[in-house]
Amino acid sequence: MKIKSDIPLICRKLSQAGLIVAFEGNISERKGDNILITPSQVNKSDVQARDLCLINKKGETVYKNSSHQASSEKFMHLAIYEVQKKASVIIHAHPPSAIALSLARPKWKVLPPYLPEVLVTLGEVPFVPYTCPGTKQLGKVIKNFVKKSKALILSRHGALVWAEDLLTAFSFMELLEACCKVITLGEAMGKIKPLTQKELRTLSKLK
Ligand SMILES: [Zn+2]
Repeated sequence: MKIKSDIPLICRKLSQAGLIVAFEGNISERKGDNILITPSQVNKSDVQARDLCLINKKGETVYKNSSHQASSEKFMHLAIYEVQKKASVIIHAHPPSAIALSLARPKWKVLPPYLPEVLVTLGEVPFVPYTCPGTKQLGKVIKNFVKKSKALILSRHGALVWAEDLLTAFSFMELLEACCKVITLGEAMGKIKPLTQKELRTLSKLK
């Protein structure tokens, strides 16, 4: 069987955009009852289609073409697909500004709605409380958030988006990090004036 997927292309785009470095992050795609997922311990700028692993709902490898193991975050991906039926792809990356905000603003429950672009395109972006990466517990915690949100910041760790296709998911991740960077700059310069309730109501109608 020859594995065909745009996941390697998206890995390179994430790497070039500085959203992941080295072995960080993982990407998956729903394939019927199984999921195709990136391998662990392969530099993302170098992932090839033959390195991807097909796993079942239990996390067992159904098919692979290389000696690599499926990503250690496979249980997080499986948990999300189980509860969010609209998700066809998931990207987990380590965008620096999003992580920095989770470190510097531990009391924030959601990304403040300062920028209209985030609200209209991503909706509410919650900060998921820190949970050890690579554990089944992380999947359990994230489940509750992905029912409502398509973009999440994982405190002290990274960010996660789901979408119906890989390019859209990549754009969501790129947008999330760009907005976090602007908020970080604004926070460093002084007090940010939030949007008014009236402006927020107008934006919510555009969604
Ligand atoms: Zn991670």
